[in-house]
Amino acid sequence: ADTTERTKEKERFNQLVYYDALTNLPNRELFVDRLDQAIQHVRRKKESGAVLVLDLDHFKRINDTLGHPIGDQLIKAVSVRLLKVLFDSDTVTRISGGSFIILLPRVAKTEDAENVANKLLTAFKAPFLINEHELFTSCSIGIALFPGDGETSDILIKNADAAMHISKERGKDRFQLFSSSIANNSFERLVLENSLRRAMERKEFCLYYQPQLDLRTGKTIGAEALIRWRHPDLGFIPPMEFIPIAEETGLIHPIGEWVLQTACKQKKIWDEQGFNSFRVSVNLSARQFHYANLVDMVGDTIRKSGIDPKCLDLELTESTIMDRLEETTLTLRRLKNMGAHISIDDFGTGYSSLMYLKTFPIDTIKIDKSFVDHVVTDADDQAITHAIISMAHSLKLDVVAEGVETREQLDLLRSQNCDIIQGYLFSKPVPTDNITPFLLSDIAKKFIS
Ligand code: C2E
Ligand code: CA
Ligand code: CA
Repeated sequence: ADTTERTKEKERFNQLVYYDALTNLPNRELFVDRLDQAIQHVRRKKESGAVLVLDLDHFKRINDTLGHPIGDQLIKAVSVRLLKVLFDSDTVTRISGGSFIILLPRVAKTEDAENVANKLLTAFKAPFLINEHELFTSCSIGIALFPGDGETSDILIKNADAAMHISKERGKDRFQLFSSSIANNSFERLVLENSLRRAMERKEFCLYYQPQLDLRTGKTIGAEALIRWRHPDLGFIPPMEFIPIAEETGLIHPIGEWVLQTACKQKKIWDEQGFNSFRVSVNLSARQFHYANLVDMVGDTIRKSGIDPKCLDLELTESTIMDRLEETTLTLRRLKNMGAHISIDDFGTGYSSLMYLKTFPIDTIKIDKSFVDHVVTDADDQAITHAIISMAHSLKLDVVAEGVETREQLDLLRSQNCDIIQGYLFSKPVPTDNITPFLLSDIAKKFIS
């Protein structure tokens, strides 16, 4: 009797230590143990195996909208379905929330692992019945093969996970094989993402300003604020590299707010020095613009800084405003009512039609640099800039040409009645102090004589 008691106790103990309470699936420890064995095995037999990371798409949303008990039941139902698709010799483990890892201890070729991934994706096409809810969900899968994609369980799981994230980025409901380029990118990205999280508190950002020349008056009419990030080890990182990461991670909200506050404070300083009509342009990214609190945030910032809202120019790209038209029009109208000035950035690269431009309450169009680049030599680009300028003028909008680098470009755009230019010819983006000469002197005049 003593021994059966002990056996039972041992079983209970094993159950607790090696199995997930919610799904009854083996836990990570047991999984890693089996994976280690499989790695040893393929090494001896010169065979191969695969590790899959499978993550439910939008699981957080299900949890948030339907509640955790439903989320838990979904996890259970998913586990059951996974086991149905897989062989007994395979191992599935839940690693967190809606995330699973799967061990295929033996695959003869890459396609075998791909086939399993496809079978898993297909298995998600039928709804999961939970209480009265028919829940549809898909999943994203990353595959790492061993020994090729890693010789230890840690590396394999990490690499399958990186591949899974690529699946998510590329549209979800799909699988992705690991490759060395994923390794490099995801590592670099991870480093950037982590340091981006700390960049604010470490005060690694600053704003540069690029002055704009008014071709009608020969004056510096304003400047565009452009963010700069100086990483303590990696040096200067261009905004094109970190703004997309900030957008994806949501860090764009605190960063964007900091940009706006800093630019408004600077504008206030210029006001106090007597340059009241000087305008400051601030870029708003798509995610920032579509954020519910944006209008309040802008309003608060203007009020706190005490600047005249009409000297604040908000730049939105064409693709940002062409998304969710109704919501966009409303947001633009609210910003406009507040008195802010609105510009469409990178104009000509998206799909705006004249009709939409008419309905949006905007003030300025910025012709994208790609047209300005060849405006002197390319007849098509010349026709395009000409058309944009005359169309904008008929709608009573001002036109800024971006990325003007040569005197020839300036002259040509001027002959087309372009209102304002911005570009290296006039000035590169410069630190705050270097803007003072543009405010004080007539540097701008010499460009229009
Ligand atoms: P953008 O808004 O189109 O800004 C203009 C970019 O063109 C700037 O690059 C500027 O330095 C560069 N540029 C200006 N004139 C010339 C020229 O004559 N020749 C050439 N080759 N380049 C010129 P930058 O500062 O690297 O910024 C790149 C992009 O990053 C910006 O494009 C904008 O989309 C984004 N960005 C920069 N600062 C911010 C910010 O504070 N918030 C947000 N959301 N995005 C920002
Ligand atoms: Ca811009
Ligand atoms: Ca631009």
